[in-house]
Amino acid sequence: MDRSNLIKPMLDAQYPVIDYGRGVYLYDTDGKEYLDASSGAITANIGHGVEEIIEAMHEQAKKVSFVYRSQFTSGAAEKLALKIAEAASGDLNWSFFVNSGSEATETAMKIAIQYWQEKGILTKTKVLSRWMSYHGITLGALSMSGHTGRRARFIPLLEDFPVVHPPYCYRCPYNLEPTDCGYLCAHELETVIKRIGADNIAAFIAEPVIGAAGGAITPPKDYYRIIKEICDRNDILFIADEVMTGFGRTGTMLACEQWNVKPDIVALGKGMGAGYAPIAAALVSDEIMEPIFSGSKSIMSGHTLSANPQSCAVSLAVLEYIEKNNIIPEVDSKGVYLKNKLIKLQSKFTFIGDVRGKGLMLGLEFVKDHLTKQPFSSRFGLTQRLIQGAQEQGLLIYPAGAGTVGTDGDAVLIAPPLTITKREIDDLVKRFEKTLQILAQKHLIFAEE
Ligand code: PMP
Repeated sequence: MDRSNLIKPMLDAQYPVIDYGRGVYLYDTDGKEYLDASSGAITANIGHGVEEIIEAMHEQAKKVSFVYRSQFTSGAAEKLALKIAEAASGDLNWSFFVNSGSEATETAMKIAIQYWQEKGILTKTKVLSRWMSYHGITLGALSMSGHTGRRARFIPLLEDFPVVHPPYCYRCPYNLEPTDCGYLCAHELETVIKRIGADNIAAFIAEPVIGAAGGAITPPKDYYRIIKEICDRNDILFIADEVMTGFGRTGTMLACEQWNVKPDIVALGKGMGAGYAPIAAALVSDEIMEPIFSGSKSIMSGHTLSANPQSCAVSLAVLEYIEKNNIIPEVDSKGVYLKNKLIKLQSKFTFIGDVRGKGLMLGLEFVKDHLTKQPFSSRFGLTQRLIQGAQEQGLLIYPAGAGTVGTDGDAVLIAPPLTITKREIDDLVKRFEKTLQILAQKHLIFAEE
């Protein structure tokens, strides 16, 4: 592969060439085995090469792969929408299918704005969000994203949406302890709403567990209850970006269920197609659809490939596979098993500052000194060294540190397929420990850095 016409994420990097995948393992063309502890980008939720999904793809392709949604609906799209409505809690009964998480959050934003327009309120157009968040790469989704690194190049084109601090207890923005902080980071939302004016705000968007922009940052118990109360009091819709957390990743179909909070709109993606096909969705409640039904009767969003039967058949097969194999109810115990092993590593490797997360969406944050929580300088590039070192050990993990959002700080996500077995978790931890050992030795516990 000396010459390539493919634009890859890093143009000057050498990427291994992947050949095939089975379960939690991937194999490159040199025969090297990788344990996929990041499910790609937290996507391959049921592992690789699952026969039932391949079968469903084949069956649908034999019938028809594409019809345009303005001309036809399809059995696959209808069944999928019904199955998601049944699987999601509450009255989240309406699915608008798209092809990526960015399209899903952008569609959610547009539906929120349209909802208020249908009610005759034209001023509610802003979407508030949090710093240390990622909602997608298209300009609307990036506007909502509090990811300084990904925003930087396009700032003049973006709306100034992100406003509040994240619930980042490990480095509390108010320097308080989670037990008696009074949830200032949640209440901050109300202060900002007062400043901007609720009349101008359509929605607040948040990832229930922060993924790419922080490494499984998980808020304490009452956070979302307070957020939802503030939203309700101010007539602001709550959009849950469950692109990463949805479809069982944290141990429930939607992560929001764990805080007992009911979103108005949910963005889904990644695990929906589990990497077998691009598919995502904005999932909308009855209440939000009602004025649209009695108003313009159409949602101003969508893409050529929206609701294509091929992707819908795949997603349907994924959901059926998840149910048939009782995958979601087992996520929590597998997650606890893995998390405990990662916590144990903290005593051996003091540069592991924090181990956090829910279900099989776990994050580790790395620090130069675990007492002061002093981060490594971003110039040292610890996250990248770690990802690279893990890859050498045949282990795939996902970069998610504050360093990736333009400040000092290093974190990774460990989020293997939900189908991982305990024996495979042991293999994962063994490879990870080896990675940490080599990294620590190579850089003499980072003394000079
Ligand atoms: N929202 C969240 C929470 C995500 O993690 C991502 C992807 N990392 C997106 C949106 C964007 O999804 P996509 O890359 O499929 O456009």
